[in-house]
Amino acid sequence: MKRLHGFVQHINQKRLKLQGKPFFEALRFLVIYLVIGIVWIVWSDQWLAAIVEDYDAFIQMQTFKGWFYVITSGFLFFVILQSRLTLLKELSDKLIHQATFDDLTQLPNKNKLTLMIDNIIDQCEPNDQYALICMDFDDFSNVNELLGYHIGDQLIASITTRVRPLINEDDIIGRDSDGFVFFVDLKNYPNDQLIDFLEEIKRSVNQSWNIENQILFVTCTMGVSRYPQDGDKFTELYKAANAAIHQLKEKGKNDYHFFAQEYHLERIERVTMMNEMRKSIDQHDLTLAFQPIYQMVDNRIVGFESLIRWHSETFGQVSPAIFIEYSEDTGLIHLIDEFVFESIIRLRKEWCYDEFKDIMISLNLSAKGLANAHLMAKVEAWVKQYEIDTSQIQVEITETALIANFDIAIDHLHFLKNLGFSIALDDFGSGYSSLTYLQTLPIDTLKIDRTFTMNIGMDVKQDIILETIINLADELDLKLVIEGIENVQQRDFLLEHQCLFGQGYFFGYPMELRNVYDLVKKDFQEANSKKEVDMI
Ligand code: C2E
Ligand code: MG
Ligand code: MG
Repeated sequence: MKRLHGFVQHINQKRLKLQGKPFFEALRFLVIYLVIGIVWIVWSDQWLAAIVEDYDAFIQMQTFKGWFYVITSGFLFFVILQSRLTLLKELSDKLIHQATFDDLTQLPNKNKLTLMIDNIIDQCEPNDQYALICMDFDDFSNVNELLGYHIGDQLIASITTRVRPLINEDDIIGRDSDGFVFFVDLKNYPNDQLIDFLEEIKRSVNQSWNIENQILFVTCTMGVSRYPQDGDKFTELYKAANAAIHQLKEKGKNDYHFFAQEYHLERIERVTMMNEMRKSIDQHDLTLAFQPIYQMVDNRIVGFESLIRWHSETFGQVSPAIFIEYSEDTGLIHLIDEFVFESIIRLRKEWCYDEFKDIMISLNLSAKGLANAHLMAKVEAWVKQYEIDTSQIQVEITETALIANFDIAIDHLHFLKNLGFSIALDDFGSGYSSLTYLQTLPIDTLKIDRTFTMNIGMDVKQDIILETIINLADELDLKLVIEGIENVQQRDFLLEHQCLFGQGYFFGYPMELRNVYDLVKKDFQEANSKKEVDMI
């Protein structure tokens, strides 16, 4: 008996756990109902017997009492059930709304858009055409991070009120992460009217916004995909439109771009290229070329810049300008930076002959490399291991590398400087070019980008800027190397303006290591024989 009781209890507890609070609530109603019922039956019969003496009347009253109880309790039961079900319905409606609409703007979110747009596509006639436009605010995370999410939210809400009226009644506007999604019937936008529509959206977003007395400037980038050619489901069109945004953002922002299949192929090519690159790194297939740097007054070699070279089986010779950028995106750049740094340190050790004593070797360090603490530790270890004179190695970094991770970059620059390396700021004049760095950073050399050299003698204003930079470098005691010298006129202009060092096809192309030895020996011998002649 005890065991049976225990079993029943166990079952009950399980049931309670399963049913949770609704069970208790239902039980509460049941108990109330039963108590009232029992009280009603017992007391009402006693009262009735006391009041009604006639037996037939008593029976009649009892039947009436039974009906009264059933109707009243039925009515109460109906009211309670109805109020509970209404509450449940309201709650589930709210949940469905929350799951399918954006809280801030009350626009359909991506889940709802998927349902709505797939539904429209399912009912399409053969000649129907639609465009899906994904719009992203440029650098919107800056607004949220710098000014706070409440400002970001208000900004989105204000933009929504301005953008919403731009669409036709039967078109769709929805909300997605950092922007909006539009799905428009191209019947409503014949000829170039879709372009007009995109321009209109751009204009209405690219304005100044006053949010809590902060004036904000917003720009947006839009990617457009089209049904049926770019996909026949929302997910496909969405992917294509976002791919178009991605492509545009690589070139610039604040514009719109239509999805192009070729671009997709380009991305696939990138993946293939990076897979091959990984293999080449593992198989030690990367090489370095060396381009001479000359002291222009006496035409003597003062150094070489090492430039990475890669021959891919599929793509042939690939420019470092391309694969370095891709490698930065995929993280492979760390392996490349390690390869370059260690190769140059080892080479410096080998260049112990007299001819090479005063020759500087430059290496290019990527933005990610400059921010990489592991690489810095490795460099320190290699310097100790190979026991080299680091002052004859120059590390070239770009302004972009500095800006990307400013604080870490500065720390690591000092670290390299303390290890004895010479530091050069590469491609000066091609990017943000802030003169303030020049004073504060531990830089020894300024390398002027070849875009300046290209225009020497052709653009008076630019010549003046170049002269100013030359004077400034002189005042700040920076060594100046002009890149990309291709002809004698450019060389002569620079000599006239007291530029000491130059690099470019005019002096020599990047070459293989074995040619470097011959060239340096020849240069050394020529200089020595000139010295002897001078002495005579
Ligand atoms: P950079 O460091 O500014 O290197 C100079 C680039 O200009 C080299 O291109 C060189 O071949 C080219 N050049 C030199 N003289 C002339 C000239 O007179 N006319 C013209 N038109 N071009 C000239 P390259 O080797 O294709 O390298 C391109 C860029 O790739 C480099 O620019 C550098 O930013 C990057 N890079 C090259 N090697 C490495 C490397 O080992 N590591 C990293 N992180 N980046 C590298
Ligand atoms: Mg360089
Ligand atoms: Mg350069």
